[in-house]
Amino acid sequence: GNPICECNNCYGGSDCSVFATDCAADADSGNPLFLEPFWMQHASTSAVLLSGWHRMSYASNDKFEVSPELVNNIHKVHAIARNAITKGKYIVFGGGSTQLLGAAVYALSMNLSSPASVVAASPAYPLYKSQTDYFQNMHFEFKGDALTLNNSSDNLENVIEFVTSPNNPDGNLRRAVAQGKSVKAIYDHAYYWPHFTAIPSPANEDVMVFTISKLTGHAGSRFGWALVKDEVVYQRMKTYISLSEFSISREAQMRAQQLLEAILEGNGKEIFDFGYEKMRNRWEKLSQTIALSNHFTLQEIPNQYCNFFEKVRGPSPAYAWLKCEREEDINCNAVLKAGKIIGRNGSLFDSKDRYVRLSLLMRDDDFDFLLGRLNVLVGNEDGAK
Ligand code: PMP
Repeated sequence: GNPICECNNCYGGSDCSVFATDCAADADSGNPLFLEPFWMQHASTSAVLLSGWHRMSYASNDKFEVSPELVNNIHKVHAIARNAITKGKYIVFGGGSTQLLGAAVYALSMNLSSPASVVAASPAYPLYKSQTDYFQNMHFEFKGDALTLNNSSDNLENVIEFVTSPNNPDGNLRRAVAQGKSVKAIYDHAYYWPHFTAIPSPANEDVMVFTISKLTGHAGSRFGWALVKDEVVYQRMKTYISLSEFSISREAQMRAQQLLEAILEGNGKEIFDFGYEKMRNRWEKLSQTIALSNHFTLQEIPNQYCNFFEKVRGPSPAYAWLKCEREEDINCNAVLKAGKIIGRNGSLFDSKDRYVRLSLLMRDDDFDFLLGRLNVLVGNEDGAK
């Protein structure tokens, strides 16, 4: 509770200058503050100022619920990142991608002959289960791991699969794996940007969800968009948004618009160079540390050709998916906690607690602090390499 600045958990005092030496390195949350310096470098072009009397209507220009300028900039930013084909697709705005993921399940499960089984391949982002369970109705039900469902004896008429590519927590690119008479995929492309992954080719799926949270780092603004091929699915998703929210906050749209405007200045590639270099550098440092360990390993992500950089590039994932290799370390997070590191339990991702997710998206000093703690932990191993 510091009123002046947002101290992280290691600092206190009225100006956040008092360091608590025994505090833990917090790598739990996926808060994307690594992009803060980019926005400090673009302070004037990205700033938004709103007069009290401005934009008061339900609709922008008294006409549009969706800002046409913002739609235009979304097309442009995908064209520059070369990560998605937007031509001929409908765009739905959402309060973060979170709302659009729910809207997509509704839209894809309406008017089916039997309730849809909603699945995601393990390890999976926990929201798919928690959201689908919470909003469950006669049209759909969460059925867990896509591969387990494939091997079950259920007669699968209708399957909806969340495909997270690249995946949270392990950073690997994915395709739908569910089998069934009718499988519909919701591609969650929150991390399908050059910051976090090679872009082998522009994505061209039926339903794709994106968010500024991981593109610009403005997670608190709550703005995302879906690219949808089919007009009926698009109309249903729009209905979901309009019945639950009427439309997406004008302020969120204006913020997103200004941020994209700032990104698109010059050749528009700077944010991707910045994001990739930062995340790549972190991954290399982390890999060097973990390579010295006898107790921990990291996920493997292959080098791949990138359509954006037009060359083969190495991994730069948003998260480390750390595995405790010693047989007795079935609770990997407890092992890390003893070394004053806070991660997220593997079981939350429909996997085992032998795994822990560590966020790599924090500020520089917080990342360095995490790396320092890991170095100590690895250096103290018996028979350290
Ligand atoms: N999908 C994935 C895979 C995520 O990791 C996140 C955020 N952690 C989201 C969706 C939610 O993003 P938003 O802030 O756009 O709701």
